[in-house]
Amino acid sequence: MRSAVLVEPNRIEIQERPRPIPQPEEVLVRVRAVGICGSDTHYFAGWRDHESSTVYPFVLGHEFSGEVAEVGAAVNDVKEGMRVLCAPDRPCGDCEWCVKGQENVCPQVAFAGSAGVEGCLSEYYIVHHSQVHPIPDNVEFKAATVCEPLAIGLHNIDNLVGPDKGESFAVIGSGPIGLVSSFCARLRGAGDVFAADRIEARLDAALQYGATDICRVEKESDFVDFIAARTDGKGADVVLEAGGEKSSITQAAKLARIHGLVVIEGIPSGGDAPFDVDSARRRELSLVFGRRSLKKTDEAIDLIASGEFDAGRMITHELPLEETQAAFELCRDYSDGVIKAIVYP
Ligand SMILES: [Zn+2]
Ligand SMILES: [Zn+2]
Repeated sequence: MRSAVLVEPNRIEIQERPRPIPQPEEVLVRVRAVGICGSDTHYFAGWRDHESSTVYPFVLGHEFSGEVAEVGAAVNDVKEGMRVLCAPDRPCGDCEWCVKGQENVCPQVAFAGSAGVEGCLSEYYIVHHSQVHPIPDNVEFKAATVCEPLAIGLHNIDNLVGPDKGESFAVIGSGPIGLVSSFCARLRGAGDVFAADRIEARLDAALQYGATDICRVEKESDFVDFIAARTDGKGADVVLEAGGEKSSITQAAKLARIHGLVVIEGIPSGGDAPFDVDSARRRELSLVFGRRSLKKTDEAIDLIASGEFDAGRMITHELPLEETQAAFELCRDYSDGVIKAIVYP
């Protein structure tokens, strides 16, 4: 089979590899579509070595759908030929958190395309049968890949923000995670959703995904001033940080009102980021961090299948496996108005 292999930072080659064979509880998937995630581009550019000490060669990719090609001997709930979306994470099932049903924080999780676990940018990929979710015929493979970020948006709003936490939301960053955050906030009844980004194309998308007002940011204080002007100087009830930059984490504390909630969703490159503790303390803010998603995949599929969530709106680029390098460069450089690029293995 062919795989897109990261051989060193910023260089992907197409290589022939042996097709893997599923163990009894596993499923072999013929991968049909892979979405490129912001976190993938961090690995691509070599920015996450602090976390996982990436060993090259390495295969990236974790947002994927396809057809079941083969099932292991002990698998009964998945059949050959099924069209499926695969969850990227394979939790251990035994630890304290898995036992409590909080698999998204399992310390032993094997997550596709991260920390020593190769990803799905190949013609075939192996998953545990519990990672497989059937998709209806009206959901295209490319749209199904967007379930992964959409599930993160649902997790953040339902499990971290919770119901009735506020009317006004400030969303920092309108890449895929920012867009699903705006969408999910509105889906759950938010009044005002203020979305920010530097890139015009992303702000246009934010409006289509439910943002009620957008802020084109050039310098950090722009969004702070924008939110102040629209909230009588008080700040937003909930701040969703999806910028993934150190400066956006610093900014998050300045956007929230007294007793507001800040949810950090983005992954800044390189461990730490400065946080304005004085500003946060005076307003007695709550600060929570999101880790992937928990039990939201099927709802994400339903939202896409029903047309309530238009996955196609964020898919701006579609490329064959041979052009994986180009897909990653687009995403790394935020060029050509890219929001989500899809690779077809
Ligand atoms: Zn992702
Ligand atoms: Zn576990």
